Amino acid sequence: MSHSNPRAFNFNAGPSALPLDVLEKAQQELVNFQGTGMSIMEMSHRGAIFETVHNEAISRLRKLYDIPENFEVLFLQGGASLQFTMIPMNFLQAGKKASYIMTGVWSEKAYKEATLFGEPVQIASTKEDKYSHIPSLDEIEVDSDDAYVHITSNNTIYGTQWSEFPDTKGVPLIADMSSDIMSKPVDVSKFAMIYAGAQKNLGPSGVTVVIIRKDFLAKANTEIPTILKYSTHVESNSLYNTPPTFGIYMLGEVLKWIEDKGGLTAIAKQNEEKAKLIYDVIDHSNGFYTGHASKESRSLMNITFRVADEALEKQFLSEAKDAGFIGLNGHRSVGGCRASTYNAVPLETCKALADFMLAFQVKHQ
Ligand SMILES: *Cc1c(COP(=O)(O)O)cnc(C)c1O
Repeated sequence: MSHSNPRAFNFNAGPSALPLDVLEKAQQELVNFQGTGMSIMEMSHRGAIFETVHNEAISRLRKLYDIPENFEVLFLQGGASLQFTMIPMNFLQAGKKASYIMTGVWSEKAYKEATLFGEPVQIASTKEDKYSHIPSLDEIEVDSDDAYVHITSNNTIYGTQWSEFPDTKGVPLIADMSSDIMSKPVDVSKFAMIYAGAQKNLGPSGVTVVIIRKDFLAKANTEIPTILKYSTHVESNSLYNTPPTFGIYMLGEVLKWIEDKGGLTAIAKQNEEKAKLIYDVIDHSNGFYTGHASKESRSLMNITFRVADEALEKQFLSEAKDAGFIGLNGHRSVGGCRASTYNAVPLETCKALADFMLAFQVKHQ
């Protein structure tokens, strides 16, 4: 952090860095949005001005992700965590099975909620290997009677990511994409549902994006509370109750920023470059740094690693903090170090960390 650039080297896992351009635009528009004399937070969610902001965010999402017509796009609340409950509540019945592929703590949380509604089955798990990799695709066998298959596309805590998705042979595939949504192009048509809390790659916390196929939606249970039915939110264009208006506005601005950057192909390329800077340091460190994730399962969003010994690791984190690096402590459940390099983390910030890691190694090896 220097005087000329007041922005921290922010590697927070979530909530996390937002694009500076977006923050500055929001600041500029904060007290007088489009000449209304009000902020976007101070006006009706049913008025024309918010409605435009809301619908533009939806159409930007559709365009950037190339979402087919037979999918709905929803903005919900309650985080990705409420989706862990809403999914089985809507799509699982007592006595029916659903497959869960276990790649980390978030998969475990999703699985646990499903046990309340039906019979989730763990059809693959890498828990015994400390979730250091994604199961290989040929290990995965889906029962054609299952209500759905659930995966976590990027494992925020362990730093692993699916590079290719399983073929579920027609069984609806649901993905928690909270920590890699819109970090690269994805073939949405392969999924029955995609969901993500916005606070890692898309905006502030408080908004959850849900992309859901219409024919899957049609199979949902009906005897459940109104606000927890996906259909309620579809029918009201996500305006059944007061939505998080500021969050949706910010999400729309982040999507505009992605467009300006050249869309998801350009974003993906930059994410690869950013992650490579840091993985290269780990791989060329002769064991001074070791990655937690197996190479073939490495995440481009969360880079998890350890430093040679524990005392040195403590010192690494403390010196990094003094040098202005934020959020490098690993998740409390795994320890070590983690650099989250989401879309809005600039290349220069990743370069600064790579340089710092190299210098630290030279000094302490
Ligand atoms: C952060 C995270 C969650 C939890 O999201 P909330 O919005 O806090 O409920 C769930 N799944 C994954 C993969 C995450 O990274």
